[in-house]
Order: sequence, then C-alpha cells, then structure tokens
Amino acid sequence: MALQFHNTLSGRVEEFQPLEDLKVRMYTCGPTVYDFAHIGNFRTFVFQDILRRHLKYRGYQVNQVMNLTDVDDRTIANSQAAGVPLRDYTAKFIEAFQADRDLLGLDPPERLVRATDHIEPMVRLIETLVQKGFAYESDGSYYFRVKNFSDYGKLSKIDFSGIKDGARVDTDKYDKADARDFVLWKAAKEGEPCWETALGSGRPGWHIECSVMAMTYLGETIDIHSGGSDLVFPHHENEIAQSEAATGKPFARFWLHAEHLIVNGGKMSKSLGNFYTLRDLIALGYPPTAIRYLLASVPYRKPLNFSLEGLQQARQAIERLRNFHYRLTTQKFPAGQNSDLQAKARAGAEAFGQALDDNLNTAEALGAIFNLVRDGNTAMDAGEFRDGDRAAFLDALERWDMIFAVLDDRDYDKLKKYGLVKEEPSVVRLEADLREAGGGNGAGRVTLGEQEIERLVSERNHARQNRNFARADQIRDELLDAGVILEDTRNETRWKRK
Ligand code: AMP
Ligand code: ZN
Repeated sequence: MALQFHNTLSGRVEEFQPLEDLKVRMYTCGPTVYDFAHIGNFRTFVFQDILRRHLKYRGYQVNQVMNLTDVDDRTIANSQAAGVPLRDYTAKFIEAFQADRDLLGLDPPERLVRATDHIEPMVRLIETLVQKGFAYESDGSYYFRVKNFSDYGKLSKIDFSGIKDGARVDTDKYDKADARDFVLWKAAKEGEPCWETALGSGRPGWHIECSVMAMTYLGETIDIHSGGSDLVFPHHENEIAQSEAATGKPFARFWLHAEHLIVNGGKMSKSLGNFYTLRDLIALGYPPTAIRYLLASVPYRKPLNFSLEGLQQARQAIERLRNFHYRLTTQKFPAGQNSDLQAKARAGAEAFGQALDDNLNTAEALGAIFNLVRDGNTAMDAGEFRDGDRAAFLDALERWDMIFAVLDDRDYDKLKKYGLVKEEPSVVRLEADLREAGGGNGAGRVTLGEQEIERLVSERNHARQNRNFARADQIRDELLDAGVILEDTRNETRWKRK
C-alpha cells in the first residue's frame, strides 16, 4: 500500500508524495512558551514525531521546522503578571520544552525557531499584503482584508460569505462567530513589548508568525503542515490566507491535524484547569516512555481519552516488549532455525509498516508487534524457538522501535540529567550473578506461564518497594525453582527462562 494521509484541505485520505524527490518539507506549529506544555500538547507533538520517524523509515529526508511562539497575547499577559521581560520569561519555558521533548524521545526538528527572531520578514510580508490590496492599516495596527481573499474558509470548510467588510478582530484566538478582518500587526500598547519597524511601533499577531517562519526556511509551497485540530480555525485558515495572498501559490499541500487528548469527555486545557504537565506525571512515578507510548497508541485522528489507568497499562505493555527483547538477546535456544517463525517475524514487520502507511494507524502497528511478541514467547515456552530465529525477531522489533522508541530504558538517566529524580531507587542490586548461582536447577519444576511470571515479578517489585525483602526473596526463589531467572536493573526487572 502506498503511503497515505488524511488531508484536512481536501477532507480525504490521499496518497502522499513530496513535491521534490524524497525531500519532505514539513512545518509544525510548536508550543506557545507561556507556561509548561501539558500532555495534551504533547499528544500532538508525539504524533508529529511518529510522522517524521515514519517518513524517514520509508526513506524520505525530512526537513522539519517547528516554531516557538514567544510573542502573542498569552506570553505577554503571563510575562507581565510575573513582572519579567518577555524574552527572559519565555526562555525558561523554551528550556523546559527542550527537556520535555528529550524526555519523551521526540527527535529534534531540523530547526526550532523563535518568532521574535523573525520580526523583519514579518514586516516585509505585511508590506507585500498591503501592496497587493490584502491588508490595510487602522490606528497603527494592520489587518488582513478577508473579503479580498476568495478562498477564505477552504481549510475549515466554514462559509464566510456573509462576513462584514472592515469589521475587525484583535485577539489571536477567536471563534468562527467572531470571524472578521484579523490582525497582522498590533500597534504598540502601554506596557507591552514592541518593535520599531517600517510599519511603526508594535508587535506581530500570532498568525503571521507561522506564515513567515514556514516560508523563510521551507519555501513558498511546503509538503506538510500540522498541528492540533483546534488550530484549523482561525490559525491555519489565516496562515493560508496570508501566505497565498502574498505569493499566489499553494501554501501547504497536506494539512494533518491531531484530535485532542481529552479527560472525562472534555479537552485537556490550561483554561479548564484539568491538565497534567509531563513533570506532574513524572512526579507521580510514571516513566516518560510510558507516557510516550500512551500518547502514540491511539491513531492521531481519534480523540485520546487520558487516564492514569491507561498510563499504567502502557507501562505494562512496554515491560512486555522489553522483556521479550531481553529474552531474544540473552536466553539460550537450541541451534537451528524454524522457518515458520521466521516467516511470522517478517510478516509482522511488514504488517506494522503497512499500518503506519495507512494514515499512521498506530493502534494497528501496535497490534502487529504484540502478535509477534505472543508468537515468539509461545514458541520459546514450547521449546520451538531456535537460535537462528533471533535475528528475524530482533530485526522486526528494532525496526518497529525506530518509530515507537520505547524499547531502550533510558528513562532513569534522562530524569537524572534534568534533575527530576528525587532519590535513588531504594534497591540498587544487580542480580546478574544469580544466573551463575546454581540454585534451582529446574528439575521437576512447575512450568509457569508468561502472565503468572509477570504477576510474580510485579508482586516482588511491590514487596521490595515496601522493603519486604523476605517476601521478595521468597518470590525470587520460587521463580528460580520454576526455571525463571530474574535480573534487576536500576529500576526494572527482566526475566527469562533458563
Ligand atoms: P499551544 O502551546 O497552545 O500553541 O499548542 C501547541 C500544540 O498543542 C498545538 O498544535 C495545539 O493544537 C495542540 N493542543 C492543544 N491542546 C491539545 C489537546 N488537549 N490535545 C491535543 N493537542 C492539543
Ligand atoms: Zn502556527
């Protein structure tokens, strides 16, 4: 199947081809750095990361520009409330965003650019719009004349034919009911940061920022533009109007929008006060990889209902994957090959790739990999897995992880790097030596199923957390008797059969 995405502009799923060879020019609306990003924001950023990783997996070269909105109504309001100059105020949240991005395994875009570093080209674009009759001045501010751009509404599919010419809206965010000529440049206001420019003293509106940063680095027509679904109107509709009115060319060919992360049926947002930041969840003890997994697990065009229970399940799913990987790399198997299993491994790799080709169906891609885990574990437990089968399974798993990026356990090191580990884990005891320890040779042992082993391992971890070492050791011995070897790393436990 060819690679295809749902394009908001056409309202259909379309085959994707970049404009030029294998080069994908992609612009993503980044965070407004007025506070810590919440995990709803990160749902969209994780989707964009899966998108870029899958494009690369399919052999494309990705040139992604992400902006940082460091001047808009919200950043100004918050910096004023904090009594800190805008640039210093936003710098703190840019740093936090970079840390969060790294914690969640989001690859850095080729360029991460600040709006306030692009004031001059914004002024030039507004001047072009004035020259072409698409913008006008009023009381020192500049507005886009919606009436003159006949395609207005083509992205959001809203009918704006009755819009009143000359009526204006000055805020960055507004509803369709308030749609009118929108602001490109805001005249300086007492106490607000401003720039002295050819347009006079003032600051840019939010929408012009993205048009300019996209076209500056990626050219007049880009391949993919994306963001959360709340950006369709007015932000992206206005970006199209500004850019296409100025250049006369299509601005973005594919528009991809992620549905919202919701809590109890409502959108997670700062204004509703129902949000978690990444750091909130880390403080509750959830590892960043589990959060990444949960955010990636629901296909991006479906709303994602967030719960701590879902996060716990994500954590268990990752455990299962890592444990399978551990068995694949360390358990002993008889020599030889099992052609049936090899075919399954290859089919699994094929299946997850195709699921992602199909408008990034992550749920199906996860299903494909867990089928593989189940088949592999079953074959291992039945003594049918052969030494020569390792490579095919490892290949499938590692390919899958080029996109999902949860297999490596780097959580602890990263948390430490950013000073987010409160204390060392209570038990730092590497039990690799147990492997050689002899005890429990497995003769006459009971065979425990995978689920039972997982249950005992988690009971033992629980006991160790409560410093009930007697019970923990008892479980370890019990497992050893059943031919299951444990290995404790800093904050996790792996198991395999002897
Ligand atoms: P902002 O920092 O508000 O500019 O938003 C950054 C990104 O997060 C944008 O692409 C938004 O569309 C997206 N976003 C905001 N809230 C949510 C949510 N609850 N679920 C998913 N994406 C969201
Ligand atoms: Zn934007």
